[in-house]
Amino acid sequence: MGKTRPPVVSGGMNQTVTRFAPSPTGLPHLGHAYSALFGWDAARRAGGTFLLRFEDIDPNRCRPEFEHAFLRDLAWLGLSWPQPVRRQSEHMADYRAALDRLSDLGVLYPCFCSRKDIQDEIARAGAAPHGPEGPLYPGTCRHMDPVRRADLLAAGAPHALRLDVAAAAHRAGPLSWTDLEVGTVAAQPGILGDVVLARRDVATSYHLAVTVDDHLQGVTLVTRGRDLMEATHVHRLLQALLDLDVPDWHHHRLLVNERGERLAKRDGAASLAALRNGGATPDDIRCRLSMDRWGVETP
Ligand code: GLU
Repeated sequence: MGKTRPPVVSGGMNQTVTRFAPSPTGLPHLGHAYSALFGWDAARRAGGTFLLRFEDIDPNRCRPEFEHAFLRDLAWLGLSWPQPVRRQSEHMADYRAALDRLSDLGVLYPCFCSRKDIQDEIARAGAAPHGPEGPLYPGTCRHMDPVRRADLLAAGAPHALRLDVAAAAHRAGPLSWTDLEVGTVAAQPGILGDVVLARRDVATSYHLAVTVDDHLQGVTLVTRGRDLMEATHVHRLLQALLDLDVPDWHHHRLLVNERGERLAKRDGAASLAALRNGGATPDDIRCRLSMDRWGVETP
């Protein structure tokens, strides 16, 4: 038998599809460049496809001018992607269908709490289960009297939809996922608590939209920063509940500023536009990110 190339991804799929999925809430900076190039290089190494997707479900924070800046700066870096670019705001029906399915499974509940209600409840309880980012939702509305719940819904009280993560995890059974750097990881779907899947003001959430989209777009390798590793546990659970394809993941390192904090919008000096205007070339950007032309970290 001749030499065959080992499959790059698990799950029986053989064409690698990666994606970069920014929220257009600010100017692209070096952190975005790193993440985009990481996904692009992974696709290129495997002879696969790189997709761009805009996660623009929050109309208060996303702006067309930032979307244009991403299109311009990523093209300047030498990246290209098939058209059309998926914009989450144009696909709310897909998320609605997923919510309906989860609702039919009995794993959603309406949450009428404001942020303040949640803080007060945590203070009152004295102790709350903690996740990686602090106290988790204490489950107030999960235990609500069904008559009161029905009354509030009938009165049109504003509410979010939360995942009853214990019920959902019980239904799904033990799960695991694969990170190309870490290996097989046993899923801890409760790590972020009863996450919101549809907000009061937006009829979906990051967790739901990203999971549905990665499936619908045939993404086989999700590349993104390590700050989203906890979210992957939840996404794996949603995939199981919704019968979606399971990609591999590769969580990459995060770029930090001189104070050791994760690069963010506020580090305006690191915006790609500012660097380009200062004379930087795409090769300078790769060099600054310690990435060679194939995405391999240079010492
Ligand atoms: N939209 C997310 C962000 O801008 C990234 C989501 C993902 O890659 O899964 O942080």
